[in-house]
Amino acid sequence: MFEKILIANRGEIALRVIRAAREMGIKSVAVHSTADADAMHVRMADESVCIGPASSSQSYLNKAAIISACEITGAQAVHPGYGFLSENAAFSQALEDHGITFIGPSAEHIRIMGDKITAKETAKELGIPVVPGSDGGVPDYETAQTVAAEIGYPVIIKATAGGGGRGMKVAKNAEELEIAFRTARSEAKAAFGNDEVYIEKYLQKPRHIEIQVFGDGKGKAVHLGERDCSLQRRHQKVFEEAPGPAITPKMRSEIGEICANAVAKINYIGAGTIEFLYEDGKFYFIEMNTRLQVEHPVTEAIFGVDLVREQIRVAAGLPMSFSQQDLEINGHAIEVRINAEKLPNFAPCPGKVRVFHAPGGLGVRMDSALYGGYSIPPYYDSLIGKLIVHGRDRPEALARLKRALGELIIDGIDTSVPLFHMLLAEPDIQNGDYNIHWLEKWLAAQFAE
Ligand code: ADP
Repeated sequence: MFEKILIANRGEIALRVIRAAREMGIKSVAVHSTADADAMHVRMADESVCIGPASSSQSYLNKAAIISACEITGAQAVHPGYGFLSENAAFSQALEDHGITFIGPSAEHIRIMGDKITAKETAKELGIPVVPGSDGGVPDYETAQTVAAEIGYPVIIKATAGGGGRGMKVAKNAEELEIAFRTARSEAKAAFGNDEVYIEKYLQKPRHIEIQVFGDGKGKAVHLGERDCSLQRRHQKVFEEAPGPAITPKMRSEIGEICANAVAKINYIGAGTIEFLYEDGKFYFIEMNTRLQVEHPVTEAIFGVDLVREQIRVAAGLPMSFSQQDLEINGHAIEVRINAEKLPNFAPCPGKVRVFHAPGGLGVRMDSALYGGYSIPPYYDSLIGKLIVHGRDRPEALARLKRALGELIIDGIDTSVPLFHMLLAEPDIQNGDYNIHWLEKWLAAQFAE
């Protein structure tokens, strides 16, 4: 086992990894930008190294500085968290070249899944159902017309290099296709430096259902059921739950087995998430994330496992500590993402937190790097905490979430907490009756003047 690992991240996810390492008797090294000198992950780690100025391109994305920090501190492995360098194949390769273990999948798997077209082709070859669409990239408008007519409108044009919900445009009919196609291309070029796009059938009322998989890198893999992450704003998840309210045990084991077999076949190592749109009883692959997800705690809650501990174990060459038969669902879990944002426009709202009081009690987990007196820097993501609740069933989890939100105090800045109080009062949320468009429609109605 490693004696010391470095965490190439900040915020709540850095704490999450430090905690797992500490329970395993592993020393932790935090890295930080100059803007994060007072951050909780720096205080909580055994050691810390400043790796650059505030801008993430010069700090948290600075591969050379992170590798130097490993050399200086003697860290044998790096956990990338999510975001930043977590899905950067070149980073994983550079670590390997320096004899440092990347706690995550191989550079090759990151590369395959990072390109949406090769990801979709690979998924198809591995027996995973995909959304009907173009075979690969669509080079020009004429081809786009042919493809769209074949699969039928509405269609969605997506950037091959896309991510974070950017570079997607919907065309409801043939008249809208030209503008949608050209805008998607220019947006993709601007955002990702690559204007390649592809076309898919646009599903009208799907749920976002994702399957958690885990592999040992030696041909063994399991699935840990699904998470329903349909409640999204601008394609960003805000509320996630497991199990999914619309998924039956039979559907779960069918799609779960397909996913576990697929990743076993490629000797996938560590945690991964296979994302689907789900409509009328059918699953359609959209992408695979080769890392730990923000919403992984809901899966940990219902299965009683520590996914980060497991990631570290398999990276060190140990076997997985559970097999498929050991994995049984216990109750229901919900996560809400708390952002430093001001409603109704969700404008980022960094600043000084005067008082922070985390909720507690049975079935409540608060993952946050906040503390009273902390100043949230304006340079990074607005996620400041995740509140996760676990109950015997969905109604109990909902009641617990309401109770826990009532105990939470974050004084001094605006947060997205009021949104969750409002959502919990909605019958559709209480009944689990929502799809990927529900939240946008509700927000438009709620805040319409
Ligand atoms: P990104 O990598 O940018 O997050 P995804 O491919 O994962 O992009 O899609 C993000 C979201 O966009 C999905 O959760 C869904 O809400 C919407 N979306 C993507 N593809 C389709 C589709 N074919 N039909 C309808 N909605 C889609």
